[in-house]
Amino acid sequence: MKVITDPGELAASYGGALVPTMGALHEGHLSLVRLGRLVGDPLVVSIFVNPTQFGRGEDWQRYPRTFDDDVAAAAAAGADVVFAPDVETVYPPGDPVDIPPLPPVATTPGLEDAHRPGHFAGVCQVVARLFDLVRPRRAVFGEKDYQQLLVVQAMARGQGERWPDLEIVGYPTVRAADGLAFSSRNAYLDRDQRRRALGVSRALAAARADDGGVEAAERSMQEMLAAHDLAVDYAVVRDARTLEPAETPGVARALVAARVDDIRLIDNMAVQFGPETRS
Ligand code: AMP
Repeated sequence: MKVITDPGELAASYGGALVPTMGALHEGHLSLVRLGRLVGDPLVVSIFVNPTQFGRGEDWQRYPRTFDDDVAAAAAAGADVVFAPDVETVYPPGDPVDIPPLPPVATTPGLEDAHRPGHFAGVCQVVARLFDLVRPRRAVFGEKDYQQLLVVQAMARGQGERWPDLEIVGYPTVRAADGLAFSSRNAYLDRDQRRRALGVSRALAAARADDGGVEAAERSMQEMLAAHDLAVDYAVVRDARTLEPAETPGVARALVAARVDDIRLIDNMAVQFGPETRS
């Protein structure tokens, strides 16, 4: 496996698969890498802690960086290349800022878009740049960041001429045995905080188990989050494709963002609601 920092060396990897990450690789990332291995050849894993998707006061500076371990783990999971550019390579000083038009799912649901202003502009900027540099045929993203997955899919669809053959592939969230979704930010949690963090997946499971409709499911989530002493940014059930309020009964998505002290966690699950669930 090669570690590449200079995009000039990527030409041999065009047309394969890409798994973009910010490093601090865990079992969730590595599942994406293993899927990447199956859907494209060669397989590039990018590691880049993108400053433009972090807001002021967020954790870009202290974001966990475990590069040597990441390279070993990516190699063991089947990567051919780790692409680890520095900030000046991704954003050459003096180059115009290139942010593709943001699709509605990046601006209207009132979820991550509202709680992290500028976040999806930064995500679209870096993902577009990575697509241009790596030129993958398939790119794998986790459902863990469900709104992000929908944003990237919509961005790629909207820029069909720029990346004509590109396919965005989603992968289900990987969880620890107790239900907590793997996340690089879990590294910040001490014992007690990790116990409280379980409230997030338990809230989603409560929404999934609740067959009383959207409002009841959202109430169940709030109760579970409060019982774990979590501060709630949102706990909602939404249309799984648009993330607008769910109107048609059927498959929807429950999404939570909550804070354990100053550590912000997000998670989501598919839920059924409406008449079908009571039949
Ligand atoms: P990040 O390094 O946090 O930017 O994540 C890189 C990719 O890994 C994104 O597509 C995430 O959605 C995905 N990811 C993060 N955590 C998980 C998880 N627990 N299960 C599946 N995918 C994940």
